[in-house]
Amino acid sequence: MGEQRSGDDGAKLRFIVDAMLGDLARWLRMLGYDTIYDRNMPDWKQLEIAAEQGRILLTRDRGLYIRARKRGIRSLLVHGDNIVDRLYTVAKTFKLRLEIDPDNTRCPLCNTPLRRVDKSEVRGRVPPKVYERHDTFWICSGCGQVYWRGGHWRGIIATLEEVKRRMGQRSRATSPTQTR
Ligand SMILES: [Zn+2]
Repeated sequence: MGEQRSGDDGAKLRFIVDAMLGDLARWLRMLGYDTIYDRNMPDWKQLEIAAEQGRILLTRDRGLYIRARKRGIRSLLVHGDNIVDRLYTVAKTFKLRLEIDPDNTRCPLCNTPLRRVDKSEVRGRVPPKVYERHDTFWICSGCGQVYWRGGHWRGIIATLEEVKRRMGQRSRATSPTQTR
């Protein structure tokens, strides 16, 4: 379909995430990456979709990882027990863009691209206090969920900053020309 693949490197990456990495799937979606996550999907189906759709398989299951590699599927074994470790591993490997772009973000629940909407569209669909305090809202046309930058937003930014800081530290530590 004439999809442009060159140049715009990271932005076009698509993922499929195994059942143990639901948190990672939600974050990748928020970052705008098309990410399939279905905790009931059997391994063989994940492999099939990854192969057919050119998706990168992210897994904590070494056996699944090895099967993917044998079939020539791009795959990453994701270590770490918290989201910072996991995001860091994926971001470092695939050079993810660690910014939430308000015009290119997906529903963390269902992966549908979110649509930024006029405030008037969410009247009555969010608590009155939220409606009063916020001017920017998004709607998911897939599941109907409404989003805004509420109290959790600060935590989201802090997590991304921590991942970025870690990536920065790594590159400083390995750069022989760096002086301070
Ligand atoms: Zn949704």
